[in-house]
Amino acid sequence: VIRVEGIGKSFGPLRVLENISFQVRPGEIIALLGASGCGKSTLLNILSGLLPPDEGQLLIQDRPAAQFNRWQTVGYLFQEDRLLPWRTVGKNIHFGLENGNYDRHERQKRVEEVLRLVNLQDFEHSWPHQLSGGMRSRVALARSLVAEPEILLMDEPFSKLDPQTRSVMHNELLRIQRLTGMTVVMVTHDVEEAVVLADRVVILRPNPGHIHHIHRISLPHPRVPTSPEVAEQAR
Ligand code: ATP
Ligand code: MG
Repeated sequence: VIRVEGIGKSFGPLRVLENISFQVRPGEIIALLGASGCGKSTLLNILSGLLPPDEGQLLIQDRPAAQFNRWQTVGYLFQEDRLLPWRTVGKNIHFGLENGNYDRHERQKRVEEVLRLVNLQDFEHSWPHQLSGGMRSRVALARSLVAEPEILLMDEPFSKLDPQTRSVMHNELLRIQRLTGMTVVMVTHDVEEAVVLADRVVILRPNPGHIHHIHRISLPHPRVPTSPEVAEQAR
């Protein structure tokens, strides 16, 4: 569903990505790991279509990235929550629907659904500044899911959450993934999270020439819901 071929990106003299190639199959969850500053967010920006690569090709659903409707296909959860401070929580999430074909009633229904999903149903009319960091990151998660994307890009989505909420969110993500069959590419610094969630792990390395290695991890990882207790025991 995503094919990246020989992608390179520089910012001025700084060569961030070089000759990156990999494929993501439909319904896979890929964890993208790598040292701070090695270009993970840059790669997600390119996958999302927000940032054009200097070299190489990006195919989404077998079409050049320029040709597909990014708003409808791809959900993007940024590394920072990027909530609009002048909009309520509900209206921030609404924003994720503004380019889709939803009528007013459907929009309101979707907003309420995803708010329940992230356990913030009582905060629809709150303002972003009234929320904690973890709550804000859950609002951002809700916004990235609201348009039911086929591909979800997530940049350290759970890093601001306490272990218990994180484990609940892991289960939610797996549940939504199973329900919708969506494809997920997520950046994380948490190896344990990668092991729990991912089908494959992609490691970005900052040394030129050896930038990417794809490691297949063969874990007996059936897509069954894990309760927080089970996840706890697995530790
Ligand atoms: P982290 O794990 O800390 O989030 P990262 O792997 O996501 O790091 P990126 O944010 O992709 O790293 O940044 C990679 C490099 O590119 C960094 O050196 C950064 O300073 C640089 N960089 C990123 N975006 C820009 C930009 N718009 N202009 C100039 N340099 C940039
Ligand atoms: Mg980053």
